[in-house]
Amino acid sequence: MLRLKRGREDRARVHPWIFKGDVADVSDVAPGSAVTIVDASGRFVGRGFFNPRPALCCRVLTRRDELLDREFLKRRLSGAVTRRQEAARDEATVAPRLGRLVWSEGDGMAGLVVDRYDGALVLQCLTLGMARMRSAVLDALAAVVGDLPVFAWDDEIAGRFEGFEPARAWVTTCGLPPSRLEEPVVVEETPVRFEVIFGHGQKTGLYLDQGENRRTIGRVARGRRTLDAFAYTAGFACHALAGGAPSAVCIESSGPALAAARRNLELNGVLHRAEIRSGNVFDELRQLERAGDRFGLVVLDPPPFARSRDAVPAAARGYKEINLRAMRLLEPGGMLATFSCSYHVSEELFADVCRDAAADAGVTLRVLRRLGQSRDHPVLLTVPETGYLKGLLLEAV
Ligand code: SAH
Repeated sequence: MLRLKRGREDRARVHPWIFKGDVADVSDVAPGSAVTIVDASGRFVGRGFFNPRPALCCRVLTRRDELLDREFLKRRLSGAVTRRQEAARDEATVAPRLGRLVWSEGDGMAGLVVDRYDGALVLQCLTLGMARMRSAVLDALAAVVGDLPVFAWDDEIAGRFEGFEPARAWVTTCGLPPSRLEEPVVVEETPVRFEVIFGHGQKTGLYLDQGENRRTIGRVARGRRTLDAFAYTAGFACHALAGGAPSAVCIESSGPALAAARRNLELNGVLHRAEIRSGNVFDELRQLERAGDRFGLVVLDPPPFARSRDAVPAAARGYKEINLRAMRLLEPGGMLATFSCSYHVSEELFADVCRDAAADAGVTLRVLRRLGQSRDHPVLLTVPETGYLKGLLLEAV
């Protein structure tokens, strides 16, 4: 039983995060197991997994009096899958075979991420509680999604914080031999294809949160020489080139990502129109400017510059610098797609930073579109942390 301090119950009814400072007392709960949460007067608030190690010690999973078991997981999973099928029906398409099936808090399953990569699933546990429930999650997935091989790929940082050994291995093979499982899979993000090797690279293999934005870029790229800065495996460049960009420059600092970028460009038959540069975007942008190179389309998709609130001022300086330099590289009429995936940098702050950069660069920019994370990463109004990716598609006037 976990008893909240007086006055903490209102937030706990709409937001799943309970911090140690919210807790009056907690009795008899093994780390990572389910706990019943009550308010200061003993009234039922919900149930979640408890972990005494991190400051964020409990995440509410239900506000009903129900067990957090396999059946619970099945109900939540089937809700997540149905929502995505309905969204696809609304858009008169079929549910994609590449995308996020479960987005943690956004789908009422705090601590769990499940991504679909065509004929396989990638499972990511972010809390000790979910890591301990892994076999129940696998059963529920088999019941709801069907028998698919599952690769468990936990986040190292979460494992350290929460105190569990992060998994990086096949946990359901569906009888496939190890040689087949080690082969790269090719997934389709229409109209392009990407190669993914499970266990190699960042996130669960691809940045699925940018899927819709990559397609948008593919649609506006025709005739525009493109710069894909912070390219990872050249996702934006592949879409731009497939969409009719005459050439593209990719900048990325990670060696394995650069090797994968080359394979993706080749897979899509556009490698001969691409230039891959290994380096630091901050330096490379300066060099391109000095060399007089100009672009009809620039994509800036940096890693999160602010991982905490304290880091926001330094992050804002970093965002300003890269945006300023990118704006100077635009041809007349050129477009800039610029992103921030730092939760702590709000949409307003990000727009302010871009405005400052534009003033310094002396470029007037029209907002063509406001961009965000793909819809398979649902945002809860009451849990703002579920929405982190923001972006602007701008056009030099
Ligand atoms: N646009 C990509 C995702 C980018 S993630 C996609 O759609 O798939 C951010 C990438 O920036 C990571 O691959 C990381 O290795 C790279 N990176 C981080 N800091 C960098 C820097 N200073 N210069 C170049 N690349 C950097």
